[in-house]
Amino acid sequence: VDKDAAVTTTLWRVAIDTPLRRLFDYLPLEQDGAPVPGVPGMRVRVPFGRRSVVAVIVSLESESTAPEGRLRRASAMIDAQPVFDPALLALLTWAADYYHHAPGEVIAAALPRLAREGAPRTALTEWWLATAAGRAQHAAGEPRRAPRQRELLGRLAAAATGCAATELDAASPGWREAARALAGRGWALAQQQPEPGMTAAAAPTDAGPDAGLAATPAGPLAGGVGPAPELAAQQQSAVDAVVAAGDRFHAWLLHGITGSGKTEVYLRLAQRQLERGRRVLVLVPEIGLTPQLVARFAARFPTVPRAVLHSGLTDTQRLAAWREVIDGHARLVLGTRSAVFAPVPDLGLIVVDEEHDASFKQHDGGFRYSARDLAVVRAQALGVPVVLGSATPSLESLHNALAGRYTRLSLPRRAAHAQPPRLRLIDLRGESVHAGLSSTAVGAIERHLADAGQVLVYINRRGYAPTLACTACGWVAPCADCDARMTVHLSAGRLRCHHCGADRPLPNQCPQCGYAVRPVGQGTERVEASLAETFAGVPIARLDRDVVRHAAELEAVVDRVASGAARILVGTQMVTKGHDFPNVTLVVVLNADHGLFSTDFRAAERLAQTIVQVAGRAGRGDRPGEVLIQTEYPEHPLLAGLLAEGFDGFAERALEERRSAGWPPFSRLAALRASATTAEATLEFLAAARRAAGHVPAALRLLGPAPAALARRAGRHHAQLLVESTERAVLHRFLDRWLPTVEALPEARRTRWALDVDPLELF
Ligand code: ADP
Ligand code: ZN
Ligand code: ZN
Repeated sequence: VDKDAAVTTTLWRVAIDTPLRRLFDYLPLEQDGAPVPGVPGMRVRVPFGRRSVVAVIVSLESESTAPEGRLRRASAMIDAQPVFDPALLALLTWAADYYHHAPGEVIAAALPRLAREGAPRTALTEWWLATAAGRAQHAAGEPRRAPRQRELLGRLAAAATGCAATELDAASPGWREAARALAGRGWALAQQQPEPGMTAAAAPTDAGPDAGLAATPAGPLAGGVGPAPELAAQQQSAVDAVVAAGDRFHAWLLHGITGSGKTEVYLRLAQRQLERGRRVLVLVPEIGLTPQLVARFAARFPTVPRAVLHSGLTDTQRLAAWREVIDGHARLVLGTRSAVFAPVPDLGLIVVDEEHDASFKQHDGGFRYSARDLAVVRAQALGVPVVLGSATPSLESLHNALAGRYTRLSLPRRAAHAQPPRLRLIDLRGESVHAGLSSTAVGAIERHLADAGQVLVYINRRGYAPTLACTACGWVAPCADCDARMTVHLSAGRLRCHHCGADRPLPNQCPQCGYAVRPVGQGTERVEASLAETFAGVPIARLDRDVVRHAAELEAVVDRVASGAARILVGTQMVTKGHDFPNVTLVVVLNADHGLFSTDFRAAERLAQTIVQVAGRAGRGDRPGEVLIQTEYPEHPLLAGLLAEGFDGFAERALEERRSAGWPPFSRLAALRASATTAEATLEFLAAARRAAGHVPAALRLLGPAPAALARRAGRHHAQLLVESTERAVLHRFLDRWLPTVEALPEARRTRWALDVDPLELF
């Protein structure tokens, strides 16, 4: 054996998009008998089983665990330079480890689908050139008898670097036929070439096509900065604190009440990084919030190229946006959850807005990660500050601040002159209630409308009514495939299941006894109808997933409210998210009682966050706001405490409860979730998984298996087994040891299962 050859052999350890929890070794591609140099982060093609697949080089190795003779050779290079820099690759490796998920799927989650399939890192454009022969023929005045070909050849010969196909489309429609004829004569040829610059999907800017391609200069932003208010003292000290901490990793919890000017703080911090030639990544919980935030960043930094990444993009748009990011053109990157993996070069700051929002947690599918938590890990790996902002921080983040891992920055007062709203409970037991609205609430709405205010009515259900019931025999319309009732959608004339999407015509009599049926309870549609009756002539807008399916529809509703065209807005959770309606002076929470008695230990936190967020929509302008919360449990300590002491008081008490019950953040959780077509199969699998755990460490508990609260959904039965430990390291060591044995269980093949580390939704 040649000793030198053995030493210099390099293997590519690659990630492949499969559920297998491992990496794979390949011999490097060879060209002219020599190995092609591969770099971690590059995509390559490798044979996998009988297929050829895209893989990402994760590391270079000199030895493989696979037997020498069985190593296969990579078949092609895709990238000439890595699509993941070392820090991003390290983040993904860390995430695969922490979430105990297949590394190939984790890395795949960080690429747009087309890039996963091998689309080039840089967009290729079709270019047409005149060949040397073509030029000579052109000079000789050829082809004489084909005027269209002659004209095209002239155009191509005149352009030193050829013409883009798009250019030709515009200049001479129908040119392709002539081009093909010229190509047939050997006088012209087509090439695919990278053409860096703006693409259709990237946000338009005034900067021109190559603004970002030159090394980004430090100094004042070219083109200037849009109008900015003078910072209030509290905002200034927040900005100063972050700036003073320098260019190192530091996690900041920006806890500012709604309307306190958190966004203004993000803008100032972003400006500072942009001026220094560094890039900024801003994460928002959902697509609906991106237009507003994009608008504010665009108004402030009109010439800074940006990219927006969210789930509403087509595959082609997503690829184009990713290219804008990876080539460094986009200097401001805004996006939802998966944007935490955006390959932003030279990142100087990460902002996570509304950090408490559950949408940052991917809670279904295979790879279940928290974009907020990964943002902190990424910032740490890069040595840059991360700012987590919220009016209602998660108890996890508050705990991290109390423990000194994060630094809390408070904005306790509203920016400008707005006053915090006054909150009041309405005891439903002493009220006459019509269609969910108490007479006190109706009176208040009247008053605010008469006072030229706008009113927001929040209810946590969409549809007309959550139940359709028989007036005689007590039958209620069930979903055939779920442990749930069908929701009445009256205007559509349908019954719909909100858990599985089942949809059928609305019956007008009971299928069981033939008597009349009627809708029971309230949804947004019914509240809207009843308000329209009570306040005839007052324009009403509704905001829920039935009326708003796309970002554009959301913008239309938001515009109607913001412009004052609609006076009353009825909506679900969607209305609680960050909108700024300065003229809303009254918020009515129709029913706060869901969540007061839930089995989920996070229900109270979520309810408090919802109430505080929706209340925050009131009185954002010059006039004070009023918030009415309807409840049958006005003495409930959560509601009473929230009103007496605000979110801070609530959070303090809730953390104390979590501590004594041993729930997160005072312990760590992982949920093994399973579903199958029978309840037995899920429970058998989870019971087997529990047995496979054997003797568990003292600091660790297994809880369950237990069926999910809504056990049957879309015909499948769901259950889970919880793993809890006070020690993060103990939990993860246990998972490392346990998962391979779970995977090997024969029952594992009869169920669908997934591990959810740090689950947000329980039961
Ligand atoms: P938050 O993000 O905390 O809800 P915003 O940044 O949206 O708060 O600010 C609320 C409102 O106050 C916005 O209309 C914003 O333009 C305005 N605002 C913020 N900071 C200032 C300031 N320093 N001076 C005047 N107005 C401000
Ligand atoms: Zn009946
Ligand atoms: Zn259903």
